[in-house]
Amino acid sequence: MCANLQASIRVTLPWNPDTRTIHIDAAHDTYTATLAVRAVLLELGYSQPPRGALCWCGQFLDVAAAVRRGPAWTSEVTRYGA
Ligand SMILES: [Zn+2]
Repeated sequence: MCANLQASIRVTLPWNPDTRTIHIDAAHDTYTATLAVRAVLLELGYSQPPRGALCWCGQFLDVAAAVRRGPAWTSEVTRYGA
């Protein structure tokens, strides 16, 4: 299963292993968000190519789509925001 990408208003936990979700700051553009996603994946032990963010399965993650989608006004924010 691929990493999920979710833009969030306030990122307190960049990586949620329960949902395999990488949270990116909703204020970030695609470039900055990609750097953030790469940082999380590197920290998890998955080396990254010169460009883009590579999922552990070998597929590139669509960071631009997650940025476009924007934040979800649901559980994640409230769950980790308090
Ligand atoms: Zn994947």
